[in-house]
Amino acid sequence: MQLLKDRIRKDGKVKEGNVLKVDSFLNHQMDIALFREMGKEFKRRFAGEEINKILTIEASGIGIACVAAEQFDVPVVFAKKTQTKNIAGDVYTTQVESFTHGRVYDIIVSREFLGKGDKVLLIDDFLANGKALEGLAALVEMSGAELVGAGIAIEKGFQVGGDAIRARGIHLESLAIVESMDEKTGEIVFREQ
Ligand code: 5GP
Repeated sequence: MQLLKDRIRKDGKVKEGNVLKVDSFLNHQMDIALFREMGKEFKRRFAGEEINKILTIEASGIGIACVAAEQFDVPVVFAKKTQTKNIAGDVYTTQVESFTHGRVYDIIVSREFLGKGDKVLLIDDFLANGKALEGLAALVEMSGAELVGAGIAIEKGFQVGGDAIRARGIHLESLAIVESMDEKTGEIVFREQ
C-alpha cells in the first residue's frame, strides 16, 4: 500500500535491534485518516471472505482493528496481556514471547466472545517473528472458531514470522513489507508487492 510505505519512509525511524519506530502515526499518535485507508485496503484484500469478528492483541493492534472493523461491520475482540499466573474464569489462554520487550506473557480471551461459528480475521500492527499472530491463531483454534486470515500493517520481511505464517497456509496480507532497513543510514527498502 503506497500511502503507508510513503509515510513509513517519511516518518519511520530505524532503531537498534531491528525495531522500526512509527510512533508519530501508528503506535503512539495515530493518524486516523491513514488508518481509514488501511481499513479500506484490508477490506479490499479480504473481499469475498466471510468474516464476522476481528481479533487483535492489546495495545497497539486495537486502533487499526477498530478502523478495519468499521469497514467489515463486525465487532473487535482484543486479547488481553496478563502476567497473572492463575488465570481465573472462563478464558482461552496461551503464551506469547514479546519481540519488543523480550519476555513471555500470557494472553487471554473470554470464552464469551470467541467460539464455534465465528469466522475470524486477525489484525495487528507489526509482524516480526510471528509470535503474536501465532498466539492469536492458537486462541482461535482453541475456541473452535474458523481462522479466515491475518491482516498486518507492517511486516518486517527479513524476520521469520511472515514465512512461518504463510507456510501454515494462513491467508496473510501485509500492507507494507520491509525488505531491509539500516539503523545507521535510516534507509528502508520495501518488497515489491
Ligand atoms: P512478533 O510477535 O511477530 O515477533 O512481533 C509482533 C509484535 O511485536 C507486534 O504486536 C508489535 O507490537 C511488536 N513489534 C515487533 N516488531 C516491531 C517493530 O519493529 N516496531 C514496533 N513498533 N513494534 C514491533
